[in-house]
Amino acid sequence: MTLAPVLPLTFDVTASTAVRASVDRDAILADPGFGKHFTDHMVEITWTAESGWHHARVYPYGPLLLDPAASVLHYAQEIFEGLKAYRHSDGSVWSFRPQANAARLQRSATRLALPHLPEVDFVESLRQLIALDASWVPSAPETSLYLRPFMIATEGFLGVRSAHRVGYYVIASPAGAYFTGGVAPIAIWISTSYSRAGKGGTGAAKTGGNYASSLLPQQEAYEHGCAQVLFLDALEGKYLEELGGMNVVLVHRDGTLITPDSDSILEGITRDSILQLAEDRGHRIERRKVTLDEWGEGVASGDIVEMFACGTAAVVTPIGRLLGEGVEIGSADVVAGELTMSLRQELTDIQYGRVADRHGWMTRLDA
Ligand SMILES: *Cc1c(COP(=O)(O)O)cnc(C)c1O
Repeated sequence: MTLAPVLPLTFDVTASTAVRASVDRDAILADPGFGKHFTDHMVEITWTAESGWHHARVYPYGPLLLDPAASVLHYAQEIFEGLKAYRHSDGSVWSFRPQANAARLQRSATRLALPHLPEVDFVESLRQLIALDASWVPSAPETSLYLRPFMIATEGFLGVRSAHRVGYYVIASPAGAYFTGGVAPIAIWISTSYSRAGKGGTGAAKTGGNYASSLLPQQEAYEHGCAQVLFLDALEGKYLEELGGMNVVLVHRDGTLITPDSDSILEGITRDSILQLAEDRGHRIERRKVTLDEWGEGVASGDIVEMFACGTAAVVTPIGRLLGEGVEIGSADVVAGELTMSLRQELTDIQYGRVADRHGWMTRLDA
């Protein structure tokens, strides 16, 4: 049997008859915060075991109608992505390496036993939403429209197996500048009581369950005056993994950038891009196991001179100090590292079209 080639999906478009008035939209865009306000439309594509991906559509943003037995609600069969649409100075709208998000969504899908959405349909789903909601992409410095594609098991069935009916959606939310009043180093809490992901688990997949298990340790971080929690490996509790939603990078005084390598870390596109930019400048990159002891001793001896977290939402966040049971690394009055800030600047310059895109990372969404 030969399989028919899978053609790109075509989208049915239903424009909202109740789009927000421009004065209301402008009021939101003037102070969007993060993840609080949503645009006028959303995307949905249905997958069934019999028919594959079909019925791609864009329609007015609103609540989902879900069977209460939908397996996402019971067994958390879901994955997601996060990327941004950036407004360039000529008014055009671009996204950063969306093909990498499409590929990662496929890897996450494999681990969560969900179907692969082809890259062309993923990128087209973003274009289709921007075609209707481009006016929601803000233009103030460091602002963007955050795009949240996600895939959930919608089949109403309480048996435990991968669902035969799945929905893929995209929603979008304007995002303000993450740091208002300058990029300040944050304090990180090291969780010794909780792990994020174990060997053979779902740590490398972008799936809600990883976040659900990070909420309690995150609360612990807040209680200790820290902004984020850092997880160690689940087996020995010795090696750095990552934060709840950001990867970590250390800078050695000889200019080497060191980042933890483990199969339970989510491979961030921001980290990959930052390391590429550093490599372009001649920095050495080490992807390897890093112990908490090495970090602590390195900071104390002056071997480690900068440390930062990175991810799409905040781009690059300098880390000032680390706290945990019996652990105190770094100090409260450390300032953001020079290399950290210059890599952050270079990456955002590419994203906002202020410098040449020499790696071909940008994809135009509004044309
Ligand atoms: C999304 C995510 C990151 C960062 O990935 P980016 O592609 O850089 O946004 C890092 N860690 C976790 C756990 C994540 O979910």
